[in-house]
Amino acid sequence: MFDTTEMGPFGIRRLSPPPAINRQGAGLGPVWKAVTLALLLSATAAADPVVAKEGTGIAWDITADLTTEIGARLAGTDREAAARDWAVARLKKLGFANVRVEPFTIPGWVRGAEDAHLIHPYPHRLAITALGNSAPTPAGGLDGDLVYFATLDDLKAAPAGALAGKIAFIDHAMKPTQDGSSYGPMGVVRRLGPAIAAGKGAAAAIIRSIGTDNHRNPHAGGTSFDEGTAPIPAGAVANPDADLIARIARTGKPMRLNLVLESKAVGPLPSGNVIAEIPGRDRSLPPVLLACHLDSWDLGTGAIDNAAGCGIITAAAKQVQAAGAPLRTIRLLWAGSEEVGLLGGKAYAAAHGGEPHAVAMESDFGADKVWRVHFNVGPDNVALADRIAAALARMGIHRGNDRATGGPDVRAIIDRQKPAVIDLKQDGTRYFDLHHTPDDTLDKVDPAHLDQNVAAWTAVVGIVANEPGPMAGN
Ligand SMILES: [Zn+2]
Repeated sequence: MFDTTEMGPFGIRRLSPPPAINRQGAGLGPVWKAVTLALLLSATAAADPVVAKEGTGIAWDITADLTTEIGARLAGTDREAAARDWAVARLKKLGFANVRVEPFTIPGWVRGAEDAHLIHPYPHRLAITALGNSAPTPAGGLDGDLVYFATLDDLKAAPAGALAGKIAFIDHAMKPTQDGSSYGPMGVVRRLGPAIAAGKGAAAAIIRSIGTDNHRNPHAGGTSFDEGTAPIPAGAVANPDADLIARIARTGKPMRLNLVLESKAVGPLPSGNVIAEIPGRDRSLPPVLLACHLDSWDLGTGAIDNAAGCGIITAAAKQVQAAGAPLRTIRLLWAGSEEVGLLGGKAYAAAHGGEPHAVAMESDFGADKVWRVHFNVGPDNVALADRIAAALARMGIHRGNDRATGGPDVRAIIDRQKPAVIDLKQDGTRYFDLHHTPDDTLDKVDPAHLDQNVAAWTAVVGIVANEPGPMAGN
């Protein structure tokens, strides 16, 4: 009906009116006018090219360049190693001191081919990804009855041996929250579900992705099997595919699945933490530790998780330095192998547990705005916390009542030393739409939000790095 060969200036198909109207020479009839207007309006909207906003400054440059020049950087791979080299070069170029890699090794796991087909009662190909630590399926894949569990508790209630030779499907109902609090109780489906299914004899386990989007993007992430449990193949399907399985399950029709997950454990692989410092004027004072993680899952380019976090802490440290050398040393920890068991944070605590730290902070929750602050400070630092809260209040960031716990890469050193902890809580409403998916890419980072993070971090780090008195948490 339409001439679709001629392209407009934005690659939009230019439409010619139907020949019949031209022949009549009577201009466009009202219906065609309405159609044309609607098409033009939609073409105008589409003509606004999908180009992400570009930011400026250190945080943006780190986020953009790390995701562009390195991209996905799964723990233990040569891409994570390339990211370490990249990080060392960038941090040196920015003028940091004592820039170094502290290597460690991790239990290896590599991703292989992955595919899943529902073969009964209706044929469907499912969007699936293997979970970290998944065992491989046998050659040719695994065929099994798919048994639906609406919740992890339902799976736990299944009798021993009930799943022998079968594939468990574990559903959940995660909802977005501003503070990300649904990740704990729902994330346990991923972290422990496959092991619980294995304990009941399952040949494999599939979960609904731990995410809040409605895209056909499976969410990667690690699962774990304790010492006594032999790993089984374990994967996550995209939310719309989980909806499909749930819908069929409600009909009571038996389901059968063919599963191919060739990911597997391999020998130890190299990883490492990247450390950089801004030396303080008084080297006898314990440093301020700011952390992010350098590794990412391998489906996207790790922009929100967690290149942006490295950009934020690094930009803030440089801004504090720009106001004059801080009293205390500011130490950056760009941790390796966070996604596969917080291994970089554990290695850091093992290496530096003997050196006191004044305060620990981490940025690892995307790049959206900071909206709240939490503290964990001892009785001697109440006034300090009040001063920080007052500075943040001027930026519209309010003080919450929860106790700060730090991020994943500082957890081990916090557990060991109990330094002061300050959490700048970011808005997580859309974080789990993107987390660990192919959609974790640079265009999801809003430069204005990123800058707000840097401003909040700069305010806090500027205070704690120049605080002369002792600092401690509870
Ligand atoms: Zn992360």
